[in-house]
Amino acid sequence: MSTARPPRLFIPGPVEVEDDVLQEMAGPMIGHRAPEIGELIGAIRPMAEKLLRTSQPVYLMTNSGTGAMETAAINCVKNKVLSCVNGAFSQRFAEICDSHGYEVVRLKVEWGKAIHPEMVREKLNEGGFDAVTLVHNETSTGVMSPLAEIAKVTNEFDDVVLLVDAVTSAAVVPIETEKLKIDALVTGSQKGLAIPPGLALSTFSKRAMERAKKKKLRGSYFDLLSIHKSWEKDQTPTTPAVPQFRALRKRLEKIMANEDAWYAAHQEKADLTRKWANDRFAMFPEAGYESVSLSCIENTRGISVADLNGYLREHGVMLSNGYKALKEKTFRIGHMGANSIEHHQQLLDLIDGFLEK
Ligand SMILES: *Cc1c(COP(=O)(O)O)cnc(C)c1O
Repeated sequence: MSTARPPRLFIPGPVEVEDDVLQEMAGPMIGHRAPEIGELIGAIRPMAEKLLRTSQPVYLMTNSGTGAMETAAINCVKNKVLSCVNGAFSQRFAEICDSHGYEVVRLKVEWGKAIHPEMVREKLNEGGFDAVTLVHNETSTGVMSPLAEIAKVTNEFDDVVLLVDAVTSAAVVPIETEKLKIDALVTGSQKGLAIPPGLALSTFSKRAMERAKKKKLRGSYFDLLSIHKSWEKDQTPTTPAVPQFRALRKRLEKIMANEDAWYAAHQEKADLTRKWANDRFAMFPEAGYESVSLSCIENTRGISVADLNGYLREHGVMLSNGYKALKEKTFRIGHMGANSIEHHQQLLDLIDGFLEK
Protein backbone atom coordinates (compact mmCIF):
# COMPACT_ATOMS: atom_id res chain seq x y z
CA MET A 1 0.00 0.00 0.00
CA SER A 2 1.29 3.45 -0.87
CA THR A 3 2.02 5.55 2.20
CA ALA A 4 2.40 8.81 0.26
CA ARG A 5 -0.07 11.40 1.45
CA PRO A 6 -2.43 12.55 -1.32
CA PRO A 7 -2.22 16.27 -2.11
CA ARG A 8 -3.47 18.66 0.57
CA LEU A 9 -6.86 19.83 -0.65
CA PHE A 10 -7.58 23.47 -1.35
CA ILE A 11 -10.51 22.49 -3.55
CA PRO A 12 -13.99 23.63 -2.44
CA GLY A 13 -14.94 20.16 -1.28
CA PRO A 14 -14.22 17.50 -0.30
CA VAL A 15 -12.06 19.37 2.16
CA GLU A 16 -9.15 18.54 4.45
CA VAL A 17 -10.15 16.88 7.73
CA GLU A 18 -7.97 16.84 10.86
CA ASP A 19 -6.55 13.54 12.10
CA ASP A 20 -8.46 13.60 15.39
CA VAL A 21 -11.76 13.82 13.46
CA LEU A 22 -10.72 11.07 11.01
CA GLN A 23 -9.67 8.78 13.85
CA GLU A 24 -13.15 9.00 15.39
CA MET A 25 -14.42 7.10 12.37
CA ALA A 26 -12.39 3.99 13.09
CA GLY A 27 -14.36 2.77 16.14
CA PRO A 28 -16.20 -0.58 16.36
CA MET A 29 -19.45 -0.83 14.43
CA ILE A 30 -22.68 -0.42 16.33
CA GLY A 31 -26.15 -1.72 15.58
CA HIS A 32 -28.37 0.81 13.87
CA ARG A 33 -31.28 -0.24 16.10
CA ALA A 34 -29.15 -0.67 19.23
CA PRO A 35 -29.04 1.88 22.08
CA GLU A 36 -25.59 3.05 20.93
CA ILE A 37 -27.00 4.72 17.80
CA GLY A 38 -29.47 6.64 19.95
CA GLU A 39 -26.64 7.88 22.14
CA LEU A 40 -24.67 8.99 19.11
CA ILE A 41 -27.59 10.78 17.43
CA GLY A 42 -28.69 12.15 20.79
CA ALA A 43 -25.27 13.77 21.27
CA ILE A 44 -25.31 15.27 17.77
CA ARG A 45 -28.86 16.65 17.87
CA PRO A 46 -28.51 19.66 20.21
CA MET A 47 -25.22 20.71 18.68
CA ALA A 48 -26.59 20.48 15.14
CA GLU A 49 -29.62 22.58 16.11
CA LYS A 50 -27.35 25.16 17.68
CA LEU A 51 -25.11 25.23 14.63
CA LEU A 52 -28.03 25.79 12.27
CA ARG A 53 -29.73 28.19 14.69
CA THR A 54 -33.03 26.35 14.86
CA SER A 55 -35.32 24.65 17.37
CA GLN A 56 -36.65 22.38 14.62
CA PRO A 57 -35.18 18.91 14.08
CA VAL A 58 -31.95 18.62 12.12
CA TYR A 59 -32.08 15.38 10.15
CA LEU A 60 -28.96 13.33 9.52
CA MET A 61 -29.34 11.92 6.05
CA THR A 62 -27.01 9.31 4.58
CA ASN A 63 -26.61 10.74 1.09
CA SER A 64 -24.69 13.58 -0.48
CA GLY A 65 -25.91 17.17 -0.55
CA THR A 66 -27.82 16.67 -3.78
CA GLY A 67 -30.07 14.16 -2.04
CA ALA A 68 -30.99 16.78 0.55
CA MET A 69 -31.75 19.27 -2.25
CA GLU A 70 -34.04 16.67 -3.79
CA THR A 71 -35.68 16.06 -0.40
CA ALA A 72 -36.59 19.74 -0.20
CA ALA A 73 -37.90 19.73 -3.77
CA ILE A 74 -39.98 16.56 -3.34
CA ASN A 75 -41.56 17.43 0.00
CA CYS A 76 -41.97 21.19 -0.06
CA VAL A 77 -42.95 22.36 -3.56
CA LYS A 78 -46.61 22.32 -4.58
CA ASN A 79 -46.76 23.41 -8.25
CA LYS A 80 -44.85 26.49 -9.24
CA VAL A 81 -41.34 27.27 -8.13
CA LEU A 82 -39.02 30.21 -8.72
CA SER A 83 -35.46 28.90 -9.10
CA CYS A 84 -32.73 31.48 -8.65
CA VAL A 85 -29.94 30.44 -11.02
CA ASN A 86 -26.49 32.07 -10.93
CA GLY A 87 -24.21 29.08 -11.40
CA ALA A 88 -23.96 25.30 -11.70
CA PHE A 89 -25.42 24.23 -8.37
CA SER A 90 -28.39 26.58 -8.53
CA GLN A 91 -28.95 25.23 -12.06
CA ARG A 92 -28.93 21.74 -10.53
CA PHE A 93 -31.61 22.80 -8.02
CA ALA A 94 -33.80 24.02 -10.91
CA GLU A 95 -33.24 20.76 -12.81
CA ILE A 96 -34.21 18.71 -9.77
CA CYS A 97 -37.47 20.68 -9.70
CA ASP A 98 -37.92 20.08 -13.46
CA SER A 99 -37.50 16.35 -12.85
CA HIS A 100 -40.50 16.34 -10.50
CA GLY A 101 -42.76 17.89 -13.07
CA TYR A 102 -43.20 21.28 -11.42
CA GLU A 103 -43.64 24.51 -13.30
CA VAL A 104 -40.15 25.96 -12.88
CA VAL A 105 -39.49 29.63 -13.61
CA ARG A 106 -35.82 30.53 -13.64
CA LEU A 107 -34.49 33.82 -12.33
CA LYS A 108 -31.33 33.73 -14.39
CA VAL A 109 -28.36 35.87 -13.47
CA GLU A 110 -24.99 35.95 -15.19
CA TRP A 111 -22.37 33.62 -13.63
CA GLY A 112 -20.33 35.62 -11.13
CA LYS A 113 -23.23 37.83 -10.11
CA ALA A 114 -25.30 37.56 -6.93
CA ILE A 115 -29.04 37.07 -6.62
CA HIS A 116 -30.43 40.36 -5.35
CA PRO A 117 -33.59 40.65 -3.24
CA GLU A 118 -35.34 43.07 -5.59
CA MET A 119 -34.94 40.61 -8.49
CA VAL A 120 -36.70 37.97 -6.41
CA ARG A 121 -39.50 40.37 -5.48
CA GLU A 122 -40.03 41.35 -9.10
CA LYS A 123 -40.37 37.71 -10.18
CA LEU A 124 -42.60 36.72 -7.25
CA ASN A 125 -44.86 39.64 -8.08
CA GLU A 126 -45.74 37.82 -11.31
CA GLY A 127 -47.79 35.60 -9.01
CA GLY A 128 -48.69 31.95 -8.56
CA PHE A 129 -45.46 30.79 -6.92
CA ASP A 130 -45.45 28.52 -3.89
CA ALA A 131 -41.67 28.03 -3.50
CA VAL A 132 -38.27 29.60 -4.16
CA THR A 133 -34.98 27.71 -4.51
CA LEU A 134 -31.77 29.52 -3.69
CA VAL A 135 -28.14 28.47 -3.44
CA HIS A 136 -26.71 30.63 -0.68
CA ASN A 137 -23.13 30.15 -1.79
CA GLU A 138 -22.54 29.27 -5.46
CA THR A 139 -19.49 27.04 -5.38
CA SER A 140 -19.04 27.29 -9.15
CA THR A 141 -18.53 31.06 -9.10
CA GLY A 142 -17.54 31.89 -5.50
CA VAL A 143 -20.54 34.17 -5.03
CA MET A 144 -22.39 34.41 -1.72
CA SER A 145 -25.86 35.89 -2.20
CA PRO A 146 -27.47 38.05 0.53
CA LEU A 147 -29.59 35.37 2.18
CA ALA A 148 -31.10 37.49 4.97
CA GLU A 149 -32.35 40.15 2.53
CA ILE A 150 -33.72 37.54 0.13
CA ALA A 151 -35.53 35.73 2.97
CA LYS A 152 -37.11 39.04 3.96
CA VAL A 153 -38.55 39.33 0.45
CA THR A 154 -39.87 35.77 0.21
CA ASN A 155 -41.53 36.30 3.59
CA GLU A 156 -43.49 39.22 2.13
CA PHE A 157 -45.39 36.65 0.07
CA ASP A 158 -48.02 34.37 1.57
CA ASP A 159 -47.47 30.66 1.30
CA VAL A 160 -44.16 30.88 -0.57
CA VAL A 161 -41.57 28.58 1.02
CA LEU A 162 -37.85 29.33 0.81
CA LEU A 163 -35.63 26.32 0.08
CA VAL A 164 -31.97 27.05 0.63
CA ASP A 165 -28.90 25.08 -0.39
CA ALA A 166 -26.34 25.94 2.27
CA VAL A 167 -23.89 23.19 1.36
CA THR A 168 -20.94 25.58 1.17
CA SER A 169 -22.15 28.20 3.62
CA ALA A 170 -23.45 26.35 6.69
CA ALA A 171 -20.66 26.13 9.27
CA VAL A 172 -18.71 28.73 7.28
CA VAL A 173 -20.88 31.70 8.23
CA PRO A 174 -23.59 31.67 10.92
CA ILE A 175 -27.05 31.21 9.39
CA GLU A 176 -30.10 32.27 11.42
CA THR A 177 -32.35 29.58 9.96
CA GLU A 178 -35.29 30.09 12.30
CA LYS A 179 -35.12 33.86 12.65
CA LEU A 180 -34.99 34.27 8.87
CA LYS A 181 -37.92 31.83 8.51
CA ILE A 182 -36.03 29.63 6.09
CA ASP A 183 -38.29 26.66 5.27
CA ALA A 184 -35.62 24.21 4.18
CA LEU A 185 -31.90 24.44 4.82
CA VAL A 186 -29.78 21.67 3.33
CA THR A 187 -26.07 20.95 3.68
CA GLY A 188 -23.50 18.29 2.80
CA SER A 189 -20.81 16.88 5.04
CA GLN A 190 -17.70 17.26 2.88
CA LYS A 191 -17.91 21.03 2.40
CA GLY A 192 -18.60 23.60 5.12
CA LEU A 193 -19.08 20.92 7.76
CA ALA A 194 -15.59 19.67 7.03
CA ILE A 195 -15.98 15.94 7.54
CA PRO A 196 -15.71 13.17 4.93
CA PRO A 197 -18.44 12.82 2.27
CA GLY A 198 -21.59 10.75 2.81
CA LEU A 199 -23.89 12.81 5.01
CA ALA A 200 -26.31 15.66 4.47
CA LEU A 201 -27.78 17.60 7.36
CA SER A 202 -31.10 19.26 6.69
CA THR A 203 -33.73 21.12 8.64
CA PHE A 204 -37.30 22.11 7.78
CA SER A 205 -39.74 24.65 9.17
CA LYS A 206 -43.12 23.63 10.61
CA ARG A 207 -44.69 25.09 7.50
CA ALA A 208 -42.49 22.91 5.27
CA MET A 209 -43.50 19.82 7.27
CA GLU A 210 -47.17 20.72 6.79
CA ARG A 211 -46.52 20.94 3.05
CA ALA A 212 -44.99 17.47 3.13
CA LYS A 213 -48.04 16.04 4.90
CA LYS A 214 -50.28 17.30 2.14
CA LYS A 215 -48.21 15.84 -0.68
CA LYS A 216 -49.48 12.55 -2.03
CA LEU A 217 -46.21 11.32 -3.55
CA ARG A 218 -43.10 11.87 -1.49
CA GLY A 219 -41.09 8.95 -2.79
CA SER A 220 -39.50 6.65 -0.25
CA TYR A 221 -35.86 7.37 0.60
CA PHE A 222 -36.44 11.12 0.79
CA ASP A 223 -39.87 11.03 2.46
CA LEU A 224 -39.66 13.67 5.19
CA LEU A 225 -42.43 12.17 7.26
CA SER A 226 -40.63 8.85 7.46
CA ILE A 227 -37.35 10.63 8.26
CA HIS A 228 -39.12 12.57 11.00
CA LYS A 229 -40.73 9.48 12.49
CA SER A 230 -37.32 7.86 12.91
CA TRP A 231 -35.83 11.08 14.24
CA GLU A 232 -38.34 10.95 17.10
CA LYS A 233 -36.63 7.73 18.18
CA ASP A 234 -33.08 9.06 17.63
CA GLN A 235 -32.83 6.78 14.63
CA THR A 236 -32.83 6.94 10.84
CA PRO A 237 -35.21 5.08 8.48
CA THR A 238 -32.39 3.05 6.89
CA THR A 239 -28.86 2.09 7.92
CA PRO A 240 -26.88 5.30 8.42
CA ALA A 241 -23.21 6.12 7.75
CA VAL A 242 -22.11 5.51 11.33
CA PRO A 243 -18.45 6.53 10.83
CA GLN A 244 -19.55 9.90 9.41
CA PHE A 245 -21.92 10.37 12.36
CA ARG A 246 -18.95 9.91 14.68
CA ALA A 247 -16.88 12.40 12.72
CA LEU A 248 -19.79 14.82 12.84
CA ARG A 249 -20.09 14.51 16.62
CA LYS A 250 -16.39 15.32 16.97
CA ARG A 251 -16.62 18.19 14.46
CA LEU A 252 -19.57 19.75 16.27
CA GLU A 253 -17.84 19.42 19.65
CA LYS A 254 -14.84 21.21 18.20
CA ILE A 255 -16.94 23.99 16.66
CA MET A 256 -19.04 24.42 19.81
CA ALA A 257 -15.89 24.77 21.95
CA ASN A 258 -15.43 28.16 20.28
CA GLU A 259 -17.90 28.98 17.53
CA ASP A 260 -16.66 32.54 17.04
CA ALA A 261 -13.09 31.36 16.50
CA TRP A 262 -14.26 28.75 13.97
CA TYR A 263 -16.07 31.37 11.88
CA ALA A 264 -13.30 33.96 12.29
CA ALA A 265 -10.72 31.47 10.96
CA HIS A 266 -12.70 31.08 7.72
CA GLN A 267 -12.96 34.84 7.30
CA GLU A 268 -9.25 35.25 7.93
CA LYS A 269 -8.34 32.66 5.27
CA ALA A 270 -10.71 34.30 2.78
CA ASP A 271 -9.36 37.79 3.52
CA LEU A 272 -5.74 36.69 3.05
CA THR A 273 -6.53 34.98 -0.26
CA ARG A 274 -8.67 37.84 -1.57
CA LYS A 275 -5.96 40.40 -0.87
CA TRP A 276 -3.37 38.20 -2.59
CA ALA A 277 -5.70 37.64 -5.56
CA ASN A 278 -6.44 41.34 -5.97
CA ASP A 279 -2.69 42.09 -6.06
CA ARG A 280 -1.91 39.48 -8.70
CA PHE A 281 -5.15 38.68 -10.53
CA ALA A 282 -8.72 39.84 -9.87
CA MET A 283 -11.64 38.38 -7.96
CA PHE A 284 -14.26 36.88 -10.29
CA PRO A 285 -17.44 37.61 -8.24
CA GLU A 286 -19.42 40.81 -8.29
CA ALA A 287 -17.75 43.16 -5.78
CA GLY A 288 -19.19 42.84 -2.29
CA TYR A 289 -20.48 39.28 -2.80
CA GLU A 290 -17.21 37.35 -2.64
CA SER A 291 -17.66 34.07 -0.83
CA VAL A 292 -16.07 33.34 2.54
CA SER A 293 -16.06 29.62 1.66
CA LEU A 294 -13.90 29.83 -1.44
CA SER A 295 -12.18 32.42 -3.59
CA CYS A 296 -12.96 32.25 -7.29
CA ILE A 297 -10.10 34.11 -8.96
CA GLU A 298 -10.22 35.47 -12.49
CA ASN A 299 -7.23 34.32 -14.54
CA THR A 300 -6.32 37.82 -15.74
CA ARG A 301 -2.71 36.78 -16.45
CA GLY A 302 -3.77 34.01 -18.80
CA ILE A 303 -1.69 31.36 -17.06
CA SER A 304 -2.35 27.67 -17.65
CA VAL A 305 -4.35 26.64 -14.58
CA ALA A 306 -3.79 22.99 -15.51
CA ASP A 307 -0.01 23.57 -15.45
CA LEU A 308 -0.32 25.46 -12.18
CA ASN A 309 -2.12 22.53 -10.62
CA GLY A 310 0.50 20.14 -12.00
CA TYR A 311 3.20 22.24 -10.34
CA LEU A 312 1.26 22.44 -7.07
CA ARG A 313 0.70 18.69 -7.09
CA GLU A 314 4.46 18.16 -7.21
CA HIS A 315 4.58 20.26 -4.05
CA GLY A 316 1.85 18.24 -2.35
CA VAL A 317 -1.18 20.53 -2.70
CA MET A 318 -4.04 21.06 -5.15
CA LEU A 319 -6.64 23.72 -5.95
CA SER A 320 -9.60 23.70 -8.36
CA ASN A 321 -9.73 24.83 -11.93
CA GLY A 322 -12.75 26.94 -12.93
CA TYR A 323 -16.10 25.15 -13.16
CA LYS A 324 -17.11 23.99 -16.65
CA ALA A 325 -17.41 27.15 -18.82
CA LEU A 326 -15.11 28.95 -16.36
CA LYS A 327 -12.33 26.38 -16.77
CA GLU A 328 -8.95 28.12 -17.30
CA LYS A 329 -10.78 31.46 -17.09
CA THR A 330 -10.87 31.19 -13.30
CA PHE A 331 -9.42 29.03 -10.54
CA ARG A 332 -10.75 28.36 -7.07
CA ILE A 333 -9.16 28.15 -3.64
CA GLY A 334 -11.37 26.70 -0.90
CA HIS A 335 -11.29 28.04 2.66
CA MET A 336 -13.45 25.33 4.20
CA GLY A 337 -11.99 22.53 6.27
CA ALA A 338 -8.91 22.03 8.37
CA ASN A 339 -6.32 24.03 6.41
CA SER A 340 -4.85 26.75 8.63
CA ILE A 341 -3.96 30.30 7.70
CA GLU A 342 -0.33 29.09 7.53
CA HIS A 343 -1.32 26.40 5.02
CA HIS A 344 -2.99 29.10 2.96
CA GLN A 345 0.10 31.29 3.06
CA GLN A 346 2.20 28.32 1.93
CA LEU A 347 -0.16 27.71 -0.99
CA LEU A 348 -0.06 31.37 -2.06
CA ASP A 349 3.77 31.36 -1.81
CA LEU A 350 3.85 28.27 -4.02
CA ILE A 351 1.64 29.97 -6.61
CA ASP A 352 3.96 33.00 -6.50
CA GLY A 353 6.85 30.62 -7.17
CA PHE A 354 5.01 29.29 -10.22
CA LEU A 355 4.26 32.81 -11.49
CA GLU A 356 7.96 33.74 -11.27
CA LYS A 357 9.02 30.78 -13.39
C1 LIG B 1 -21.16 20.30 -3.55
C2 LIG B 1 -22.42 21.05 -3.60
C3 LIG B 1 -23.67 20.42 -3.63
C4 LIG B 1 -23.91 18.96 -3.49
O1 LIG B 1 -23.01 18.14 -4.07
P1 LIG B 1 -22.91 16.60 -3.64
O2 LIG B 1 -21.87 16.11 -4.55
O3 LIG B 1 -24.24 16.00 -3.86
O4 LIG B 1 -22.53 16.58 -2.17
C5 LIG B 1 -24.79 21.21 -3.66
N1 LIG B 1 -24.71 22.54 -3.67
C6 LIG B 1 -23.55 23.18 -3.63
C7 LIG B 1 -23.56 24.67 -3.60
C8 LIG B 1 -22.36 22.47 -3.58
O5 LIG B 1 -21.19 23.12 -3.52
